[in-house]
Amino acid sequence: MFSFGSIEVKELGLPPKYKSIVQWKNKNNSCWLDTLLTIIVFSVNIRAAINRNMQELALFNRLSTLYDQCQKRHSDTSTADTNVVVEHDIYNQLDFARSYVLNQLRQKLPSLSPGDHESCFEMFSNILKLGPLSKLFSVTLRWEFECDECQYKKARRVTTEITSFPSTTPDFHPLNASFHRSCFTCSAQNQLMTMVMERIPPCLMLHFEQGLPHNRFKVLDFGIQGHLYSVTAAVQYINKPFNHFIVWIRDCKANKWLCCDDLNPVSSWQSRPPKIPPGEIHMVLW
Ligand SMILES: [Zn+2]
Repeated sequence: MFSFGSIEVKELGLPPKYKSIVQWKNKNNSCWLDTLLTIIVFSVNIRAAINRNMQELALFNRLSTLYDQCQKRHSDTSTADTNVVVEHDIYNQLDFARSYVLNQLRQKLPSLSPGDHESCFEMFSNILKLGPLSKLFSVTLRWEFECDECQYKKARRVTTEITSFPSTTPDFHPLNASFHRSCFTCSAQNQLMTMVMERIPPCLMLHFEQGLPHNRFKVLDFGIQGHLYSVTAAVQYINKPFNHFIVWIRDCKANKWLCCDDLNPVSSWQSRPPKIPPGEIHMVLW
């Protein structure tokens, strides 16, 4: 009998690069969880953190180890005659691992019911706390506001794992990241609130309530404080004909993308960047 807790904790290699990748299969509206777990198992920086701290991050170590084993088995079977029994077992094991993580989450969030369509944005910090992975995503930034009309100025320092933009300006970039809001004192419309990052973590996650102005991810790569930040994952939030999350994973070295959609759980790397409708770009990880 398969037991997630008995998976041996060991050093992880790089995320899988097999031509064909098998994903978690949607079960009871699990796309929010499948998306978040996929981001974790494909993050090079998270894997490095897991290797530095194997015992404390044992949950995510086991999750990544199991994921890698499933990819190897999938790759071995897809080169031979497709083995239905093996593929069935792979989905079962991925499902066991997902249930294990969901149970851990429910111990912290008793109101969480299996089958609820949760928000990737809202559940993101909760998933990190299971690790604990929060430190890896913890950014310190200033929100700076200035009103053109009354010259009112305001700055607020925040430390958070995910920064949310209610909207974006047409020239949005992580180093030029603003949104419009009304003035706090004179109520003038369309004044700028700007994010200025002070301490940037290895993994930077931003959330966009109304999407981004464009889908050209390459121009969102940036350098700061001597480090290069490349887009490594983008969560797509589709709301028609039903609410659904998909995540696109980018292999920066090979510059390839993988669409991870739990309604279509076998996919292949592609050289073409994803053409996500900009309004559906929900979260971006650098
Ligand atoms: Zn004002």
